[in-house]
Amino acid sequence: MTGNGRFGIHGGQYIPETLMNAVIELEEAYNRYKDDPVFNQELTELFNDYAGRPSRLYYAKRMTEDLGGAKIYFKREDLNHTGAHKINNVLGQALLAKKMGKTRLIAETGAGQHGVATATAAALFGMECVVFMGEEDTKRQALNVYRMKLLGADVVPVTTGTATLKDAVSQAMREWTARISDTHYCLGSVMGPHPFPTIVRDFQAVISKEIKEQMRQAEGKLPDAVIACVGGGSNAIGSFYHFINDLEVKLIGCEAAGRGIDTFETAATINTGRLGIFHGMKSYFCQDKYGQIAPVYSISAGLDYPGIGPEHAYLHDIGRAEYVAVTDEEAVNAFEYVARMEGIIVAIESAHALAYAMNYSKVLSADQCVVVTVSGRGDKDCASVARYRGEEIGE
Ligand SMILES: *Cc1c(COP(=O)(O)O)cnc(C)c1O
Repeated sequence: MTGNGRFGIHGGQYIPETLMNAVIELEEAYNRYKDDPVFNQELTELFNDYAGRPSRLYYAKRMTEDLGGAKIYFKREDLNHTGAHKINNVLGQALLAKKMGKTRLIAETGAGQHGVATATAAALFGMECVVFMGEEDTKRQALNVYRMKLLGADVVPVTTGTATLKDAVSQAMREWTARISDTHYCLGSVMGPHPFPTIVRDFQAVISKEIKEQMRQAEGKLPDAVIACVGGGSNAIGSFYHFINDLEVKLIGCEAAGRGIDTFETAATINTGRLGIFHGMKSYFCQDKYGQIAPVYSISAGLDYPGIGPEHAYLHDIGRAEYVAVTDEEAVNAFEYVARMEGIIVAIESAHALAYAMNYSKVLSADQCVVVTVSGRGDKDCASVARYRGEEIGE
């Protein structure tokens, strides 16, 4: 990384002047606490006692034998409290906000997963919580709206633009500008203006730190590849981070191709997007021919963000990580296959990574190993996968 929140040409702080004070205050606080032993001790206790870390590294034996290639390991972020990796980031940011004297957390959410995680942390810390959610999404994700309210949060429907995730992010940024004194904006992925991509990365990096230790225990060596799905990119960067300097470890991010990267119904940013500036950062974005942010689509609500975090854009530029596109069809097939082979119902987001890993591991030999991050559990996706297969089961 180069200075001031740049990753090569990406990242930076493309924000209105009114937001500068907030991000400067946040950066200063983060620099003060990130290496503070007391802060890190408290965070480790929250990770372990509350979130249930370390998450397991599981050898998927039946799948490995069936596919006949490299050994496949799952990094089980689905076993964390609230069912995904998002809690790692949220606990870190909530603790930081508390140290900064903030009493109120705001957040954006698309499918509702980050909103639920933030509402969870707010309840734990006794903080006020407001979650901005596109009105369209509040209808599609009624159960998560109920969960957030049960946890004590206010859910504010956002009606601007396409009334989905990108509009919720914009609204949360506006709200933060209007009320900086007592409020922390708990951003949900490795995106937005500096210092968010770095802060969120550091809190999620616990994933690769654990993978490294667990692989040494299990195999006495590093994995040959680490594979993770990419929406904004937080579980993927968390899975990659401690391997970036281990050049023999291949890093593979799996984007949502939706109905295909040759269609308009896709969310594969690296594969179809162009350089741009949005939500406070320079990175790659899905855009129309006028440079406007394009509507994106994926069966997976957690992956249909029209951009990608700046550090991924940089890892792509320098060729350190590879970004592949996986369709709805491939992800649904993997979702069903992993359920039958391993008895694990994974998030449809994670199924994108597993789908790629299934093909990739086949071309490797039996003495090689791949680690796939299972970013979350798939209970939330059963109804939409059933619908994809032409079955209505209700929710
Ligand atoms: C939110 C979410 C994602 C996508 O977010 P990233 O920041 O790209 O990790 C992936 N998987 C699950 C289970 C999620 O909830």
